Amino acid sequence: MRILISNDDGYLAPGIHALAKALSAIADVVVVAPDSNRSGASNSLSLDRPLSLQQADNGFYFVNGTPTDCVHIALTALLDQRPDLVVSGINNGPNMGDDTLYSGTVAAATEAYLFGIPAIAFSQGDHGWAHIEDSARIAREFVERRMHSLSAASLLNVNIPSLPYAQVKPIQATRLGRRHQSEGVIRSQDPRGREIFWIGPPGPTRDAGPGTDFHAVAQGHVSVTPLQVDLTHTQQLDQLARELA
Ligand code: MN
Repeated sequence: MRILISNDDGYLAPGIHALAKALSAIADVVVVAPDSNRSGASNSLSLDRPLSLQQADNGFYFVNGTPTDCVHIALTALLDQRPDLVVSGINNGPNMGDDTLYSGTVAAATEAYLFGIPAIAFSQGDHGWAHIEDSARIAREFVERRMHSLSAASLLNVNIPSLPYAQVKPIQATRLGRRHQSEGVIRSQDPRGREIFWIGPPGPTRDAGPGTDFHAVAQGHVSVTPLQVDLTHTQQLDQLARELA
């Protein structure tokens, strides 16, 4: 089995090192990741400048671009054969609910999905890398268990509680929860007195009840949400078509 690994925290992040090490036990692994932290990059491609692909001493490739750039370049310019699976992460912190839209971790997996390759995004429930080796073991076991059920239509968003292995509860299939609108922007001044802005943190959860990813991880379960990319609002489409007829 051949697995391509990427992330959005950058090729030096502990999460991608732990994931690559764990998956190396069961597959041939190639890592292509951003040269720096590109969390929040979503599905952006760099179209305004050329990209370079360099290799670190440990064999990891790194690109001066986004997670989507990394997977795109790996699939179109680096790899001789298509990988059987593309895995992204393990992200530093959760990617649940509406956050998945902004996530570079999910985006790297989505890029593979758009190429028709099964893809999984892995994130930890909390920031800070606590028990990252345990999370990587859970990720490896998940890949082993699900590999033969995956298809070109598989885009899975997995969030793993930041707990010791023995304390993590069984996998639950979930839907994405919802958040309230994000917190307000933070105004400040640069050293020259110009007003600057920091994007505020995510808003509080709004739909985090049973059945959601938020709820599963809060209870200590591994959450798995199958994703799709089609944003069409089918009900509104039908209504709009009737109105316009
Ligand atoms: Mn990240």
